[in-house]
Amino acid sequence: MWIKTIKGLGIFLTFSLLLINCQTIQTALENALQSISLTDFKANIQTLSSDEFGGRAPATPGEEKTVNFLQQKFAELGLKPGNGDSYFQEVPMLAMKVEPTAKLRVFKKPTTLEFNFSQDFMAWTLRGVEESGFDQADLVFVGYGIVAPEYNWNDYEGVDVKDKVVIILINDPGFETNDPNLFNGKAMTYYGRWTYKFEEAARQGAKGALIIHETAPAAYPWEVVQNSWGGTNYTLASEDNNMSRCAVEGWLSLEASQKILETAGLNYADLKQKATQPGFKGFSLVLQASLHFKNDVSHVTSRNVAALYEGGERADEVIIFTSHWDHFGTDPSLEGDNIFNGALDNATGTAGLIELARAFTNLKQKPKRSFLFLAVTGEEQGLLGSQYYATHPLFPLAKTVAVINIDSLNIWGPMKDITVIGYGLSQLDQYVEEEASKEGRQVNPDPTPERGSFYRSDHFSFAKQGVPAIYFSPGVDHVVHGKKWGLEQRDKYLAANYHKPSDEFDPNWDLSGAIQDLQLIFKIAYRLSEEATFPNWNEGTEFKHLRDQMMGIND
Ligand SMILES: [Zn+2]
Repeated sequence: MWIKTIKGLGIFLTFSLLLINCQTIQTALENALQSISLTDFKANIQTLSSDEFGGRAPATPGEEKTVNFLQQKFAELGLKPGNGDSYFQEVPMLAMKVEPTAKLRVFKKPTTLEFNFSQDFMAWTLRGVEESGFDQADLVFVGYGIVAPEYNWNDYEGVDVKDKVVIILINDPGFETNDPNLFNGKAMTYYGRWTYKFEEAARQGAKGALIIHETAPAAYPWEVVQNSWGGTNYTLASEDNNMSRCAVEGWLSLEASQKILETAGLNYADLKQKATQPGFKGFSLVLQASLHFKNDVSHVTSRNVAALYEGGERADEVIIFTSHWDHFGTDPSLEGDNIFNGALDNATGTAGLIELARAFTNLKQKPKRSFLFLAVTGEEQGLLGSQYYATHPLFPLAKTVAVINIDSLNIWGPMKDITVIGYGLSQLDQYVEEEASKEGRQVNPDPTPERGSFYRSDHFSFAKQGVPAIYFSPGVDHVVHGKKWGLEQRDKYLAANYHKPSDEFDPNWDLSGAIQDLQLIFKIAYRLSEEATFPNWNEGTEFKHLRDQMMGIND
């Protein structure tokens, strides 16, 4: 009898303690969540995207202002320097600008076609050289320019492209055909990205690589190509001075491409159709081309900003938040507004990082694991800052629990859902699903996977090294206006403002949805900090063996 009573009392006590414990955690989290400030968030977006910050290009006065601003904000919140006694991680880069008077000439006797820089083509070199180009080089059409053994695909098979210039289609055969058995169907694979196309062309020994631009498969209009590569281009400095890259990389406008193909007696639509067929092989266009340009090259140092909030129990285990602070700067050659303010992309994410940091410092009890707030440079130039960090980590990658990337937050108001780019790839999904469902919110995959967003922001640099990484994007199912409206807003932004000087702060933005997303992200990260497990990539992903390897897991 007494045993029963005591046992009953014990259960009662345990239950009460649990309840108190739960309530304290809840209250503590509530305080932290409420400390995320709409007012500060808005003000910080305005500052970062102001004309005074000049569009935040790496190694410009805009960088100076941006990284100092971030350092000050993190220091004020009591975060420690993430790199020894410094809040900065230096990132050595080459900065390069191509002389915009360059002409591309294509020859088929007796015809000579002449094309203008920017209007018809964009070209640059990532080699650290004062001039570059090609002279009477053979043009070779290599379809999608893909070598993918796992898909039994090789556009370069039996084709000699050494010292020649390859012409490549953007995206991959799955996109064009919508055939789920070709690559990843409509969803873009890494083979569809321009970054891959140039890497592969260089491996094949091509002198030049020119991608045919088409808006749908590229996911952006020609103007974005002009803006993205028309100013100063940056790349990570390397020991070989990047001489392993092609001498020339670039894009051709669709109109210019069609003219070139017609001169070769070919039709773009036919060629594209042929290139989607398994067994397609590249072939010579029997045309020659010349292009020369001066390249104004300099060695510069840019900076990642790294601020640490140390955990209370396992401080050596780190959860990283990434958000790129950089954008395209100012282009003096443009008439009218020539400042790329990058308000949505990515002053919102950078300001969001500050709010997340604020939330963690408002926890009554320190989280068990540490948090690194990493505002990276050079994202717009090819994920440079994150790539540098992932290959020169400040904290061991094997002790890095996860990377949470924020690039462009929600400006359209509260959504019933949140988008996870790369949904289905890692165990991190579970955390998102559980926390989102507590708020009655849905987790959705990328509504437009054909745009290849998974390869287009900083989490990918970590994925490539094996660290589980997740990329949050705004939901699309608007609480008041619904899903169709939500998708329309995204498309409108993409067409009108993405990577254009018009990506400016607008006082009419409804940032309450961004606050809601930040709170959700905070809860997910907090859960990760309280656990002892290390999430992994899912079986069958190309990243899992890398994580297994670094964690000493044999599979
Ligand atoms: Zn961005």
